[in-house]
Amino acid sequence: MPSPQSLLFFADVMLGKLARWLRLLGYDTAYERDIDDRAIVERIVREGRWLLTRDRYLLRRNILAGRATLIVHDSVGDQLQQLGQELGISLVIDQATESRCMKCNAPLEPLAHRQAASRVPPHVAREQTEFVICPRCERIFWPGSHWTHLQRRLHDWQLGVTLGIVPRSSGA
Ligand SMILES: [Zn+2]
Repeated sequence: MPSPQSLLFFADVMLGKLARWLRLLGYDTAYERDIDDRAIVERIVREGRWLLTRDRYLLRRNILAGRATLIVHDSVGDQLQQLGQELGISLVIDQATESRCMKCNAPLEPLAHRQAASRVPPHVAREQTEFVICPRCERIFWPGSHWTHLQRRLHDWQLGVTLGIVPRSSGA
C-alpha cells in the first residue's frame, strides 16, 4: 500500500462531501458525477488512484483489489475517521497552501494581500493577512477565519486527533 501522503483518491458519486473534505486536507481527490463503472475503473488504473466507494458491487472487480476502501458510514465525520484508521490519512488541516480547492481539486496558491484586497469585501481586506487562491476557479480564501471554522467542524465530529493549523512561517 502506498504511504498515506501519496494517496490519490477517486470518490464515488455518493461521496461528494467526503471528496471536498479530503481536498481541504490536501489530498488529490477526483470526483465525477456522470461516470459509469467502467470509466471509473479505467481512470483509477490510469492515474494510480485509490477508490472510495459505498458500492459493494463495484468492489467485486478483481482489478480494484488492494486499491479501494468500502466506506461504511453515512456521516462525513465518521467517514473521515474510518480513513484515518484504515489508511492512516492525516486529519489535520495543515498550511493553507497545502490544501486543495474543495470545488475543483486544484492546489491552492498564495495570493499577495495587495492583489486580494480589491477582490474581497473591505472588512476582510482589513482584517485578514493571508490569502490563497484557486488557480482554476479563481475563488479566494482567507484561511484565518475559513480554516478555523472548518477546523471547528472537525473538532465537533470528535475525531479524536489533535487538530491545529500550522501557521506559515514568514519566509515561506
Ligand atoms: Zn477552484
